Amino acid sequence: MTTLVVPTDDLYGLQNLPYGVYSVPGQEPGVGVRYGDHVVDLARLLNDETFATGSLNPFMAQGRARWIAVRAAIIEALTGDVAAEAVHELDAVVLHLPIEVADYVDFYASEHHASNMGRLFRPGSADPLSPNWRHLPIGYHGRSASIVVSGTDIMRPAGQRKDPADAAPVFGPSTRLDIEAELGFVVGTGNPMGQPIPVAEAEEHLFGVVLFNDWSARDIQAWEYVPLGPNLGKSFACTVSAWVVPMLALQAAKVSIPVQKPAVLPYLALDRVWGLDIEIVVEWNGQVVSRPPYASMYWSPAQMLAHLTVNGAPTRTGDLFASGTISGPDKNQRGAFIELTWNGAEPVDVNGRPRTFLEDGDEVVLRATAPGPGGTRLGFGEARGRIVPNPP
Ligand code: CA
Repeated sequence: MTTLVVPTDDLYGLQNLPYGVYSVPGQEPGVGVRYGDHVVDLARLLNDETFATGSLNPFMAQGRARWIAVRAAIIEALTGDVAAEAVHELDAVVLHLPIEVADYVDFYASEHHASNMGRLFRPGSADPLSPNWRHLPIGYHGRSASIVVSGTDIMRPAGQRKDPADAAPVFGPSTRLDIEAELGFVVGTGNPMGQPIPVAEAEEHLFGVVLFNDWSARDIQAWEYVPLGPNLGKSFACTVSAWVVPMLALQAAKVSIPVQKPAVLPYLALDRVWGLDIEIVVEWNGQVVSRPPYASMYWSPAQMLAHLTVNGAPTRTGDLFASGTISGPDKNQRGAFIELTWNGAEPVDVNGRPRTFLEDGDEVVLRATAPGPGGTRLGFGEARGRIVPNPP
């Protein structure tokens, strides 16, 4: 037996306990919880076969009462003696995609991001937001199979692009590869077809939060998106963090969302505080270039889930919906390089070089922290990805 000591100011103390899937050489993957710089195997810690598998889905499917009971059991077990064979050091394990992703939807919930994109692409319009933007959380359906875990290399996508000045489209590797710093929300238990999830019941269904980088090829996107929205400019890869921070750990991070005007339709009206004070950091080749504040997001995750299902669409365990690019009101809070560099017109300094879009070999890392109880803070791990050339 062993005793694990993690200081109270650690980002991964008892206030956090994010879930992940790990493996060590010669063993099948299992579900673990991060405690300090340890990864504790939950099948062994709790003597529970639910966790002796390579995904969080079986546990998530058991529902919120089990999520609450297991979290309490983990806290109790970690504060006593722990079987030594249940404990691994973080740097000795391989981390895997923590969930089997079912459906994936990407929203567009930041007023600052949507306004900046409107100013860039519809410069003549009186209102940078489209007429529907304040009435519903806009989203599109993405490709769940291309969601990869932090640390996976990202091959530069190829596709069609056409500059407005060109007579015809050309084909080749994207020349305007970008990031979108977002959060992803994991649906633990879904809804049957025809039975929408009201905002008041979103808490019952939402299991946790991951960091989410929606890699975006702006040149492919600009040519393809009219009139049906994003497709191949987005579907080549999204990077998620290896750790899922439980919603149960985020009570102290709850803040009011910005005032919504005009008032939303009743099915989108919130009955409780649903904003989240999560501070994101974007690193480009090791240099911090942006600090997007999640607290500034106009639409809340409860409203996104209610809207996603209001037509009767079913959701399933492992469904993932992302927030859309997180951008605050200030320039150094913009969560995509197209905004940060104003479509390339205002390069940013990265390690002494003026930069606009991503070059082969560039690495981008998203990190985040949020308030926990009693003045503590929670970490979200990282969402890391490096661009490799196409062809490799
Ligand atoms: Ca996005």
